[in-house]
Amino acid sequence: MAMTNERPAGDAAWDGGWLRTARRLDSPNFGPRPPGACIDLLVVHSISLPPGRYGGDEVQRLFTNRLDWDAHPYFGQIRGLEVSAHFYIRRDGALWQFVSADDRAWHAGASQWRGRANCNDDSVGVELEGLEGDRFEDAQYDVLAVLAAALADRYPIAHVAGHEHIAPGRKQDPGPGFDWRRLGRLLQGRRIALPPSR
Ligand SMILES: [Zn+2]
Repeated sequence: MAMTNERPAGDAAWDGGWLRTARRLDSPNFGPRPPGACIDLLVVHSISLPPGRYGGDEVQRLFTNRLDWDAHPYFGQIRGLEVSAHFYIRRDGALWQFVSADDRAWHAGASQWRGRANCNDDSVGVELEGLEGDRFEDAQYDVLAVLAAALADRYPIAHVAGHEHIAPGRKQDPGPGFDWRRLGRLLQGRRIALPPSR
């Protein structure tokens, strides 16, 4: 029986660089990737605003330049910051997307990994709602693994690393509470290299 209309699952899961199962909220903080960029790196971050407080909408506000800088003393320290990540996974596993994975989000800053600098050029950034040092929820690992698999179906993802690995000394997220071995087990069967364990 001819299956000419059958497409790979990775294709059906995506609308361009937007994952259909993610809740979409467009960030203005992005730009084009360099021509020919090989999108082979997944960068794991953690974030909460203010740090350690979960459940609010401050991260979505930050990534869309709508955070009230005067609403908390901590926000004054990051006043005017224009950043974004492609994805955000809440404590309950809810998945948000702010920037098409085809485009360049602003999550890594000065960084270097697998012999290449400026990781924003050719990585996908995923923020986990959390705090470096804190543990992460089961739902977050499960959604991260599904997301990584979906990304690997569309992009040549071959590496996953934390912000702390690509910007050592400058960044600590996601921190020691993130279980890389657990992520490795969830990604078993995929050829995705984890950061070397310390
Ligand atoms: Zn980070």
